[in-house]
Amino acid sequence: MSILQLKDANKTYGEGHKKVEAMKNTNFVAEQGELIAIIGPSGSGKSTFLTIAGGLQSPSEGSVFINGHDFTNMKEKQRAATRLQEVGFILQASNLVPFLTVAEQLTLSDKVKKDNMNAAERDRLLTELDITDLLKKYPSDLSGGERQRVAIAKALYTKPSLILADEPTASLDSDRAFEVMKILSRETKENKKATIMVTHDQRLTKFCDRVYKIVDGKLSEEPHTKAQ
Ligand code: ADP
Repeated sequence: MSILQLKDANKTYGEGHKKVEAMKNTNFVAEQGELIAIIGPSGSGKSTFLTIAGGLQSPSEGSVFINGHDFTNMKEKQRAATRLQEVGFILQASNLVPFLTVAEQLTLSDKVKKDNMNAAERDRLLTELDITDLLKKYPSDLSGGERQRVAIAKALYTKPSLILADEPTASLDSDRAFEVMKILSRETKENKKATIMVTHDQRLTKFCDRVYKIVDGKLSEEPHTKAQ
């Protein structure tokens, strides 16, 4: 079964002369083990795609299935529960709760969701992201790059089946960006997740199985060969 499927989904904002077709008729499938990049200029519809894929908003028409469940027919409570169980968002630093330490950001997830990473998995992730020394710090004590790595840890810690990432490496230097891509790739392959990543960074697409471009709300697959 596909992890994510969009069927004839579109999204229109506003009316009349202010109408914007932010997502044109879209059919899209992400299977287990796939790491997919979406590239496109500012205003092309990347955030609209990610928020619809993760059930944060509904398409104007069409359907969104996550692990076979139709997001579009769910009541908000059920939709929130499905998001919590299935979707890991790596947005920007706003993922982090300002008054919790890095360690508490993770233990907060334990209060609302079972089956998060065990201690060994967690420690490996923290080590790989080089954030073990930051556990007692608050988000305001961290640099932009550190916040981004903590946000990645927070999203992966809950072992979501679908990872949706918005520019996950934007504040990172090349070495760290590549390290993050390796982690995302491994999580995706070993644990049979699907990861969709919006990026401007063409250097990162070599880690991806498929690459899509969005122009004016229209998604199209690009010819792409993954680096071995
Ligand atoms: P991107 O993430 O690629 O920058 P967005 O998905 O944010 O693109 O936006 C796509 C288009 O939809 C843009 O023209 C934007 O102005 C418009 N848009 C996005 N959100 C809204 C909204 N809530 N209301 C009206 N227009 C919006």
